Amino acid sequence: MPEVGQEGLERLQSAHVVVVGVGGVGGAAAYYLAKQGVGYLRLIDQDIIEPSNLHRLHGATREHLYHPKADVAAESLARDNPWTHAESIVDTLRTSNVQQLLSGCDLIVDGLDNFRTRYVLNQYSRDTETPYLFASAIAHQGHLALFNPPETACLDCLMPNVVDRDDESCENLGVAAATVGLVGAIAASQASNFILASHSNLKEHLLTFDTMTLDFVLTPIPKRAGCETCSNSRAKINQRSETVTVLCGGKSADVLPDHPLGLDLQRVSHSIPNDLLLAKSETVLVYKMGDLLISLFRTGRMRIEGVRGRERALEAAKVVWELATTPVAQEA
Ligand SMILES: [Zn+2]
Repeated sequence: MPEVGQEGLERLQSAHVVVVGVGGVGGAAAYYLAKQGVGYLRLIDQDIIEPSNLHRLHGATREHLYHPKADVAAESLARDNPWTHAESIVDTLRTSNVQQLLSGCDLIVDGLDNFRTRYVLNQYSRDTETPYLFASAIAHQGHLALFNPPETACLDCLMPNVVDRDDESCENLGVAAATVGLVGAIAASQASNFILASHSNLKEHLLTFDTMTLDFVLTPIPKRAGCETCSNSRAKINQRSETVTVLCGGKSADVLPDHPLGLDLQRVSHSIPNDLLLAKSETVLVYKMGDLLISLFRTGRMRIEGVRGRERALEAAKVVWELATTPVAQEA
């Protein structure tokens, strides 16, 4: 392509892009970013692949069930794109680790499903002047914008104080696989344009489209007077140090320990009967505990499926932590 050329390819090769959330949108974005020649991709996702999201994940098969999304995506990209170095990070991005996880990246691509974490990205983008490509898909609709504060408006200017609500989640409204793929592909194309020419029509604009009606609308985003992020008046985003986060649909929860536990998952797996163990890797252990499905990560963080309410989730987590930190008697 004449507008890329050798110089453009070199620019793409030297770019460092981080994709936060490697589900349907982030996975598709990472796929095309690699195909377009981006030299370094950092893929961050805390989740494992579940049967209900297999339909929208690029490069994931049934064999990848219960493996971390970030690891599966990075392996697939490394296998097919020798010009791209793909690094996976299986962790929850939050205010306390955002500097560490995003450092050295030239551009952030958002593949998230919640605003809580998006505001953390937005604040980081403002603080470090790192461009932030917001992307989201729900039902048949896609939304994208490229923020580069302080030059442009930020996410907080456009959508202040959005609270994640279950009734508006992908679990309850559903999400079409092709819509997710299109959002990811547009995100990758605009990220590449920005890397090549420091320009994209998404800059300072919100793109909204609907794959049912085929309406595509590009709306300018002005800076909002009084935006706390832009004016830097918010001392720091409230570090939501909540231990338990009830997720999408209210039937699963994410539980964080007070401090990272550094578990030896290999050892923990010995205390779980084989017929209950669904998957085991260096980063995650997935097993059944009664009616619950537990995904236990090295840090002690866990995803609990089939649980309702904070209290129940925390009770279950305490049982898991107890099991995981108790030495196995007479271990060989
Ligand atoms: Zn703002």
